[in-house]
Amino acid sequence: MIYLDNAATTPLDKDVLNAMTPYLTTCFGNPSSQHRYGRAAANAVQGARDEIAAILGVKADELYFTSGGTESGNTALKGVCLANADKGRHLIVSAMEHPALIESAKDMIKQGFEVTFLNPDERGLISAQAVESAIRPDTTFVAVMAANNEVGTIQPISEIYSVCKEKGVFLYCDCVQIAGVLPFELFPADGVGFSAHKFYGPKGFGGLYMRGNGRFTRLISGGGQERGLRGGTTFTAGAVGCARALSNAVAEMEQNNKKITALRDRFIKLVCEQIDGVHINGDMVNRLPANANISFDGCDGEQILFALDLQGIAVSTGSACSSGAVKASHVLLAMGLGEDRAKSAVRFTFGKYNTQDEVDETVEVLSKAVKKIREN
Ligand code: PLP
Repeated sequence: MIYLDNAATTPLDKDVLNAMTPYLTTCFGNPSSQHRYGRAAANAVQGARDEIAAILGVKADELYFTSGGTESGNTALKGVCLANADKGRHLIVSAMEHPALIESAKDMIKQGFEVTFLNPDERGLISAQAVESAIRPDTTFVAVMAANNEVGTIQPISEIYSVCKEKGVFLYCDCVQIAGVLPFELFPADGVGFSAHKFYGPKGFGGLYMRGNGRFTRLISGGGQERGLRGGTTFTAGAVGCARALSNAVAEMEQNNKKITALRDRFIKLVCEQIDGVHINGDMVNRLPANANISFDGCDGEQILFALDLQGIAVSTGSACSSGAVKASHVLLAMGLGEDRAKSAVRFTFGKYNTQDEVDETVEVLSKAVKKIREN
């Protein structure tokens, strides 16, 4: 098996599992309980919060634990828009955001808010000027992701944040794809979301940073956890695993990025040499080390995905399948690449466990698959 879908999820590291195991077995207390079982769990949760906050360079009480990137995005967008509805009911969401943000924005339209979906340029980049021009007097919220999950393009968040700060508008930055890959300092924002399963941590656990405990309406009411803003018994092992995985990822960042960039660049070079009619989607400079998103003329991305899967190689397409019909990726369409190019795209995302032999084998299988699809 060759796994080249590391942007979708990564395997749980053994070291992370070992750190989590006591909190799934012997140290099983509810962190809200006042007895010793509870206190032990609460200490572990606090330790994890402190560790993650230090890595983000924020205060521990500005950090809310969530079930992952989707919940963090929903909470930031809906929570901030609802809490500030008296100031204005307009929001700006980049058109290449993850569905967590796009769908949340659509939910707000149903509640009487107006949304501007901001298209990137054809390289997959959103400029600070574009954000500035879209801001209106009644804008309260902007969402631009740090890096895109499909094409891997990295946005100029510092510049976008300067614009938002000057205009007094809240900026949410979905950092799910850069957490553990690039330093958080490069992506200053009022709200930041991340998810543990993207950096070799557990699925179903993540966090939301809200600068200065920014004003937001909670989405999940409950027993007062997360300072009353996100109810539900805290997943102690998740918090411990997330902290361990993030701290490992930060420690290994340079070495992993070097290795992953070399694998990705070799892959792109070989694909371009051995297969004609290919197009790399997204800017090659402002791009995550792991990402290669490639369109193959005359092919359907899904056909390539299934042909590779038959040979034990896991990749993905950005397209969504709803009621049996394959829809082209909203990200590639927003970049203005057209239906055909969008539908023929395949995403290959490399991880720290991939090898050069896997890259070479994938290119060999891919060349044959593309040839066969084009012949049919
Ligand atoms: N945001 C981005 C950019 C993502 O890539 C993902 C996951 O694919 C999410 C949000 C959702 O994260 P989660 O799976 O933790 O809900």
